Amino acid sequence: MQKEKLEMIIDTHVHLDDKRYEDDLDEVLKRAREEGVERFIIPGADPANLKRAVEIAQSNNDIYFAIGVHPYDIDAFDTLEFEKYINHPKCVAIGECGLDYFRLEGSDEEKEREKKKQKEIFIAQIEIAKKYKKPLIVHIRDASRDSKEILEAYNAKEVGGVLHCYNADEELLSLAKEGFYFGIGGVLTFKNAKKLLNTLPKIPLEKLLIETDGPYLTPTPHRGERNEPLYTIFVAKKMSELLEIPLEDVKKITTQNALTLFNIS
Ligand SMILES: [Zn+2]
Ligand SMILES: [Zn+2]
Repeated sequence: MQKEKLEMIIDTHVHLDDKRYEDDLDEVLKRAREEGVERFIIPGADPANLKRAVEIAQSNNDIYFAIGVHPYDIDAFDTLEFEKYINHPKCVAIGECGLDYFRLEGSDEEKEREKKKQKEIFIAQIEIAKKYKKPLIVHIRDASRDSKEILEAYNAKEVGGVLHCYNADEELLSLAKEGFYFGIGGVLTFKNAKKLLNTLPKIPLEKLLIETDGPYLTPTPHRGERNEPLYTIFVAKKMSELLEIPLEDVKKITTQNALTLFNIS
């Protein structure tokens, strides 16, 4: 029974609280569920959306949420109501938090100041994760070295988590031994995803997760449109193809991994 039950997909990273799902969220979820996408995790990003995320998780058995601040939203860190929601039964992780140097602007000095602030807020969230014993959802873009350094220096392996990243840098692979999983999304289907294609087979199977990051990063053949959980199917298929393992095994393995990491059933 357990085996059959595991043959589903868990979208481990989808911003269902985003405005772009406001009008047709039920339809989006229905389409996904009908095709076997049966659990959803909403990462925190902009604190202003947290209430909406909690509401969505409360009214859907198969939806969970995380609390955290995206590196683009760190100015709002102080407004985040960690204490209010952290013990909510549907709160499964802290994040997405991390470092993103992709959009740094201004003089070198300003860039350094921004990096420093991002690091502080990232570290603060690692500490919260350890205090409350929740795994981390880590966002890394053009900042692999600094992110890894911080995760190691602050002993994030105590709680582990998922690295959801755009660069798929090989230097992050060693974190698999420290309780970190790798969230694989639509980028895998892009023609220019060479780096990820090379890295994917080096990630231990028991550390692979599937995600959309919807409404962003829509996989081929829907690039340019809004992303949605249904499209995890394209990621799973591509994974099956590249790793040369049957699709049903990709589903079972990644589902088991997600259930283990987020401690859900
Ligand atoms: Zn992200
Ligand atoms: Zn995200």
